[in-house]
Amino acid sequence: MTILKDIDKSIFNNVNVGIYRNTPGPQGRFLEANEALVKMAGYTDKARFLREVRPADMYLDSQQRKEFSQTLLRKGFVRQKEIILKQKDGSPFYAHVTATAVKDSKGRVRWFDGIIEDVSKVRKEQQRFKLIFEHSPIAIWEEDFSVFVRLTKQLERLGVRDIRKHLARHPDLVKRAFRGIKILDVNKAALVLYGAKSKHELIKNFGKTVALGSVKVLVNEFTALAGGAQSFESEFKSRTLDGRICDVLLRVSVPDSYQKTLSRVIVTIQDITERKRLEHRLKTAAQQDSLTKLLNSRAIAKRLEEELIRAKRYNLDLSCLMLDIDYFKVVNDKFGHQRGDQILKRVAMLIKTSLRRSDIIGRYGGDEFFVILTVTKPENARIAAERIRRLISALIFKFSKSSPAKITASIGVSGYPSPKIKEFRDLITEADKALYLAKASGRDCVILPSA
Ligand code: GH3
Ligand code: MG
Repeated sequence: MTILKDIDKSIFNNVNVGIYRNTPGPQGRFLEANEALVKMAGYTDKARFLREVRPADMYLDSQQRKEFSQTLLRKGFVRQKEIILKQKDGSPFYAHVTATAVKDSKGRVRWFDGIIEDVSKVRKEQQRFKLIFEHSPIAIWEEDFSVFVRLTKQLERLGVRDIRKHLARHPDLVKRAFRGIKILDVNKAALVLYGAKSKHELIKNFGKTVALGSVKVLVNEFTALAGGAQSFESEFKSRTLDGRICDVLLRVSVPDSYQKTLSRVIVTIQDITERKRLEHRLKTAAQQDSLTKLLNSRAIAKRLEEELIRAKRYNLDLSCLMLDIDYFKVVNDKFGHQRGDQILKRVAMLIKTSLRRSDIIGRYGGDEFFVILTVTKPENARIAAERIRRLISALIFKFSKSSPAKITASIGVSGYPSPKIKEFRDLITEADKALYLAKASGRDCVILPSA
């Protein structure tokens, strides 16, 4: 018994939680307090503390004290109640208080015994975290992914071996699992990104934020995380609440202790729509001829290479036209370079509108255009070429009233299959040869490949 008492005493004096006994009621006094509590209250001398401080003095808010006492009297105990207390100099601190009402043999409350834990540091950390969370410029979602662990286990029980493949084949399963994700919290940036008025609205409509075609990303995300990966990153198409589709960079990370359950994951979503648009514009610009907006020679050659591979693989016909404006130097000299440019633009437009959408058109050089006619035999390419030739010769440019400009063009045709065509460059060479013949035979005509 003495040993226990010694231990009790040593614990009482040395633990860093405050321990006290006080009498109940508004005028209640401390009967006992340990060193930690004396320090918490901002005192160094225990005797002085007991003399000068009443429990009521330590509350920042008297209403909180009233409620605490009432609960304690009614229930007989209070556990881990968060209360704001204050020190001698008035500076507040957050505390968790656990207390019991000790009664005498007649059932009357004699005193309150309690433990006070200073949780200011923890609270400050939480507030700091909350501040960063709420004001992060990147949308953050705190989510519970355990639905996917359940789904994986269920599939394993059913004998599914390749879960990724299975999910890829059953998009409905993925969508259902996605709807089963619980959103624990979202920050302000997420509300802005998705055009939601409140957290509630965004959480309620979470299922609608996946754009069509993004299921593949979800399958990868799910399988990666269920397979134990701690992070996942992918570009993704997301839908805002007002129906706008935006490109986002999705990053998921699983905190250490949640790897097995996935019951808490952090998802950040960064809007990269602008970046994507810019990338697209740069890519287009790199492939485009700036004057006519048709493909440039490098891009058309690349397309030709791809189309020839396709034609070879699927046994398809493929034809090409090389078109060159006749005596264009003379036109330039007579009407000026600027008007020459206008003519080139008009010809580009004419070629574009007189062909099928599946045909591919490029400006090969100065006044030269190259056309790829997919799934087309040279005989039919000739018909298209003749049509273009006729339409070009019918163009009238009214630059000046006295003498409107007129032009003609010569066209050489090449086609696959042909013994001469081994690779895509051969299609260009052969069309060029036919064009040369067209020029040599008086221009304003179409020449097919020589047998
Ligand atoms: P040919 O019938 O033999 O084709 O005679 P041509 O005068 O058209 O000769 P060629 O095709 O060899 O010359 C093309 C001319 O096109 C050279 C140049 O004056 C003109 N040209 C090339 N690029 C441009 C351009 O971007 N704008 C304008 N306005 N003219 C260009
Ligand atoms: Mg020319």
